[in-house]
Amino acid sequence: MKHNGIVETNYTEQPNRAASHEAAASVSTADSLNLIAEPLLAWYDSRRRILPWREDPTPYHVWLSEIMLQQTRVEAVKPYYERFLNELPDIASLAAVEEERLLKLWEGLGYYNRARNLKKSALQIMEEYGGRMPADYHELMKLCGVGSYTAGAIASIAFGQAVPAVDGNVLRILSRLRADGRDILDAGVKRSIEAELAGVIPEDRPGDFNQALMELGAVVCIPHGSPKCEECPWSGFCLARAQGSAEAYPVKAPKKPRRVEEKTILLIRYGDRFALRRRPERGLLAGMYEFPSLEGHQSEEEVLAHLRDAGVVPMRIRTLQPARHIFTHKEWDMTAYLVRVDELAGMGEYVFVEPEKMRDEYPVPSAFAAYMALI
Ligand code: SF4
Repeated sequence: MKHNGIVETNYTEQPNRAASHEAAASVSTADSLNLIAEPLLAWYDSRRRILPWREDPTPYHVWLSEIMLQQTRVEAVKPYYERFLNELPDIASLAAVEEERLLKLWEGLGYYNRARNLKKSALQIMEEYGGRMPADYHELMKLCGVGSYTAGAIASIAFGQAVPAVDGNVLRILSRLRADGRDILDAGVKRSIEAELAGVIPEDRPGDFNQALMELGAVVCIPHGSPKCEECPWSGFCLARAQGSAEAYPVKAPKKPRRVEEKTILLIRYGDRFALRRRPERGLLAGMYEFPSLEGHQSEEEVLAHLRDAGVVPMRIRTLQPARHIFTHKEWDMTAYLVRVDELAGMGEYVFVEPEKMRDEYPVPSAFAAYMALI
């Protein structure tokens, strides 16, 4: 395939490494963006995966799938997506759903603010846009939880607007393509790449172009392990491949270490029911249900003393296995005890729930999965 007489590439017939180096070296990093669309779309047409949200890309379907896919793998999202749509098939039903039911449908996907923002936005769409998703990138950006990436994905895939959708995957593959050493976590770098991509996105297939970039990042120019350059439609002009330096990109400024919080989890059992309490309306895991807990790692004696101080009469206590849960910015390092009681004195703040009902009706975050499995 010829582009301005500079380079030839074809994803089915890969040039050898020396030829690749020569070709890549002859393309300036600014020029290489002009080369990406045609081979990328040809590759996408022949290799794209069949995914449920691609079958019927209504604005609602695209929006829901993009929000679910943030931080979550495609395979993990599929069953959630189907279940969610079975129960909430449109924006009106999402706007009307009870928060507890919504969180239950989201349980296991994590990052629950995504679900809350979906509902807030659905209400906004019902009130301000007559129940129809706005068809404009800038209007989409006004919805809760919709940033430039999601707005770009919805506007291009569902409405055919030629706007980019740049997330970490796209930043990674473009930084490799151009051996670009800028920090991809820098918001200014992301904005500049969005502006550059806006100049090369094909007007006739913007949604496919954005999905093809995402697909390439998901299955070929992968984040962990070596990228599969031999399958890549850009291998003939990718600078990082030519330099043999693909794994050095993208460059990211070092993150702050996660804060470790020690907790003592209490599985308080009364008959065949266990104590749960609702978390505060704001902050981490807001509004979800959890097992009671104490700050720090407490010994058996300290737990018993704490319970007695609160007026609880523990009958028996047993140490459970420790567990750890990692959030984006912190991790919980948990010890736990099973405490049996035969009266409910001192426990007015809790609800006592049978395990089956807990699983079916109460949104309990996956941070407690190790303990949910024990009851
Ligand atoms: Fe470059 Fe290889 Fe990534 Fe393709 S898969 S963009 S050739 S590093």
